[in-house]
Amino acid sequence: MDYGLTETQQEIVDLTYRLAVEKMKPVREHYDNTEEYPWPIVEEFRKADLFGVYLPEKYGGLGGGTMELVLVTEQLSRICAGIALSVAACGLCAIPILLFANEEQRQRFLPDLASGKRLGAFALTEPQAGSDATATKCTARLEGDYYVINGQKNFCSNGNAADLYTFFATTNPARGARGLSAFVVEKGTPGFSFGKKEHKMGIRASWTYDLVFNNCKIPKKNLLYKEGYGLFVAQNTFDASRPGVASQALGLATGAIDETLSYIRIRKQFGQTIASFQAIQHMLADCATAVEASRALLYSTARAMDKEMKPAIDAAMEKGTIVFDEMNALGVKRWTKESGMCKVLCSDTAMRVATDCVQMCGGIGYMRDFPVEKYMRDAKITQIYEGTNQIQRNEIAMMIIKEAASKQKEAVAA
Ligand SMILES: Cc1cc2nc3c(=O)[nH]c(=O)nc-3n(C[C@H](O)[C@H](O)[C@H](O)COP(=O)(O)OP(=O)(O)OC[C@H]3O[C@@H](n4cnc5c(N)ncnc54)[C@H](O)[C@@H]3O)c2cc1C
Repeated sequence: MDYGLTETQQEIVDLTYRLAVEKMKPVREHYDNTEEYPWPIVEEFRKADLFGVYLPEKYGGLGGGTMELVLVTEQLSRICAGIALSVAACGLCAIPILLFANEEQRQRFLPDLASGKRLGAFALTEPQAGSDATATKCTARLEGDYYVINGQKNFCSNGNAADLYTFFATTNPARGARGLSAFVVEKGTPGFSFGKKEHKMGIRASWTYDLVFNNCKIPKKNLLYKEGYGLFVAQNTFDASRPGVASQALGLATGAIDETLSYIRIRKQFGQTIASFQAIQHMLADCATAVEASRALLYSTARAMDKEMKPAIDAAMEKGTIVFDEMNALGVKRWTKESGMCKVLCSDTAMRVATDCVQMCGGIGYMRDFPVEKYMRDAKITQIYEGTNQIQRNEIAMMIIKEAASKQKEAVAA
């Protein structure tokens, strides 16, 4: 399908996919088996300038937006969604900085994230605060020019591999959700260490760590936006980043079909290829249709988001103001509903497609040395992280009901 990509976007797709096939494909099984961090591949991503495709040129990025992040993540995930997360998790660190940091903070953090010199991570989840981020217990107490951080984060992707961490702590426990604040902490800060490393079903090339803060002093100037706006920072970050998870799901669904096609056209039973059986063809047709429908929603959402957000980002770059303030000034709407729809559709599609691909391949599809079962293991996480699909459905429904109520109000007023 021709999605009308620009010349630059098509170049990004071609370059990223070529790099993924040449550099990632030969080693993806190794990283999946060993759970080592794919440092040599990260170096290839740096050389290819993949880390900053969605960041402004002012900070060394390519000047693209959500669409470019989606394209890169999709093409890398076609080959390995776990290795792709090394880039995508940096996006989750950089997006809150892009949207909520002041000019000084942007200058300090974004260039290294754009070049990939420093990797990023995002830490919101805590053992008792998963879907319910308002249950955050990690505290940040202001003492002179520093915040003193105490507490624990868990399930942090890129944990221990990253140098910069966007994280959330309560600056005022009495205010509940309104007491949360967002910060950036640098690896190596005294009092900041790493706890348990998780061993996972899928995306095993990605490191998932606990973060531990024990009287960790970070400069006051590392507060993002204002005290008490942490939940807001997290929600707006997810609005912008969920298309990234959707593209990870879409890429791996596409990759699962690629691998399945190579096999079913060769494998013969009853004297004919299994691709010639109608039962297999119908499964293949359903998988390909679901993937294309998901891609259409994702690309159109990413484009629409960029169209609205780019003017706010450009204005903030020019004036040295905060992007989020410019978004408000320009009346940019929240993208919760649409980005949630992309995440739900693409990840549910990925899970179903990867499962059907295993089925189409039969017994070999279930084996560890055949690439298809890995797609099935990797697909599952896309239904869970950055807000489970149950939470997405809650939010989508809430937005639809709100919109209906406000339309009715307008109609009554008119
Ligand atoms: C591999 C991996 C990497 C991750 N990376 C990061 C990261 O980099 N940074 C980070 O901050 N977090 C990360 N997470 C955390 C992830 O975002 C959470 O696991 C996720 O938000 C769900 O929280 P939970 O695991 O505590 O599940 P719970 O909140 O305990 O949910 C358990 C079940 O209950 C359902 N549920 C909960 N509340 C509701 C409700 N109101 N309505 C309906 N159903 C509900 C959920 O959908 C789920 O099915 C990662 C998780 C994993 C597994």
